[in-house]
Amino acid sequence: MFHDQPARKPKKRVKRISETHMISDHMQQKTRVRFAPSPTGPLHIGGVRTALYNYLYARQQGGDFILRIEDTDSARFVPGAEDYIQETFDWLGLSFDESPLKGGPYGPYKQSERKEIYKEHVRRLLEKGAAYIAFDTPEELEAQRSQTANFQYDASTRMRMCNSLTLTREETASRMQRKEQYVVRIKIEPDREIVVRDMIRGKVVIHSSVLDDKVIYKSADELPTYHLANVVDDHLMQITHVIRGEEWLPSAPLHVWLYQSLGWEESMPQFAHLPLLLKPEGNGKLSKRDGDRLGFPVFPLEWEDPRSGERSSGYRESGYLPEAVLNFLAFLGWNPGTAQELFSLDELADAFSFDRCSKSGAKFDLEKAKWYNHQYILQTPDCILAEPFLRELQERGIVAPMETVTRVVALVKERIHFVHELWEQASYFFVAPESYEEKTVRKRWKEETPDQMRALTSLIRQMDDFTAVAQEKIVMEWIQQNGYHTGNIMNAFRLAVVGAGKGPHMFQITELIGKEETIRRLEKAIDRLS
Ligand code: GLU
Repeated sequence: MFHDQPARKPKKRVKRISETHMISDHMQQKTRVRFAPSPTGPLHIGGVRTALYNYLYARQQGGDFILRIEDTDSARFVPGAEDYIQETFDWLGLSFDESPLKGGPYGPYKQSERKEIYKEHVRRLLEKGAAYIAFDTPEELEAQRSQTANFQYDASTRMRMCNSLTLTREETASRMQRKEQYVVRIKIEPDREIVVRDMIRGKVVIHSSVLDDKVIYKSADELPTYHLANVVDDHLMQITHVIRGEEWLPSAPLHVWLYQSLGWEESMPQFAHLPLLLKPEGNGKLSKRDGDRLGFPVFPLEWEDPRSGERSSGYRESGYLPEAVLNFLAFLGWNPGTAQELFSLDELADAFSFDRCSKSGAKFDLEKAKWYNHQYILQTPDCILAEPFLRELQERGIVAPMETVTRVVALVKERIHFVHELWEQASYFFVAPESYEEKTVRKRWKEETPDQMRALTSLIRQMDDFTAVAQEKIVMEWIQQNGYHTGNIMNAFRLAVVGAGKGPHMFQITELIGKEETIRRLEKAIDRLS
């Protein structure tokens, strides 16, 4: 395809907007950010944070938030990964303005559907002499690497390699006609300063001699590599800010070089490389192994590896609420500079700024994640939390009216971090204890207790009004009249009703389970524990 590579330097192109679409000047100013995952497996939670920061910035600036699937590396493609990405953002409620599913004016939004666009740009770079064709076989490259320590394909070595700079034009053309495999490499000129302007890290200056002539296109699959596709798409999609993980910082100088080589320096996006997510201990990058070791998910949704069948837990399935995940992630690498910790998505969008993003890594904090979930559980209406609990009760063969379940949720939600902890915290509202917590029995069930509980049972039997308030009044008076110790009575009563020393206010529990059930439980405990 790239036959007519001219030897002469072509004149500078002045046009900086791609001819593929006509966008007026004021449109260009609109903030446009993109999340650009590669579907090579489940999205890491760090990737979700990257997407969130992009989203927040877009919303704050009244701009566009775009999903672009970077799937040019077919060898690393994993089935299901793209759907997983979409499902993650549906769950989190972060909606894209443009995406493969939604479409948009700059599509297609999947790089595998943009092959021709990349080819055209490779051709341009070749025409300008900013890139060249290389025929070196893997064996030849390997030989170089074993001969020269730290071998790098660059200005110092390219003239001894097999490429269009060392071959004649005719030889290059005939090799291509013979369908010999080749790659296109970007030609990095030595001794230049490359400046990356990063909104978090400031101005980063890199000497071009440390860069190598990266492969930007492979004839074998007719696909560009990540770097070229990424830069071309950011430009064509009019991306104004590239907000991504710190792991991409080393690629930034090459991306700047590509922008310049393509004549696009004036529309170069601003960069923001977000701090790495670190292990809870702070030493090194957060990995799936840390999650397995310490028992927390590193993926937003549960994932089953299509090859190994291995299952990895997800935040959703572990009982995290999407709002909690978003609030928690927002604070991993950013802080508002105030004491406020609970933020809605709108509040986050208002408060977010790159000035307050940290340069150093952000330590993952599981306790904080749980704390956030607890806070959002408290904010969730009881009737909403009651729905999954009602389902669980049904699965356990328990029939209870929604109203009761909702009241139970209201009483115990202060004690849970996750909805699935409701059963553990509230099962006694629905089933009488079968056993009694041993240490509580030892501490709370004394010699005189059975007689006292028998007397309490008679007292309860006579009650007409069984509301918590009425019960409390009568029981407290009775305790006083008899000179009992309130703690002794109430703790034994709780043990009989709950089977343990836990739970909310005692009379709220008995009001809910009712008079008959309270009496039954008292009698059963007297019988079992005496
Ligand atoms: N495809 C890259 C990734 O998987 C995109 C990096 C970028 O945002 O430029 O993260």
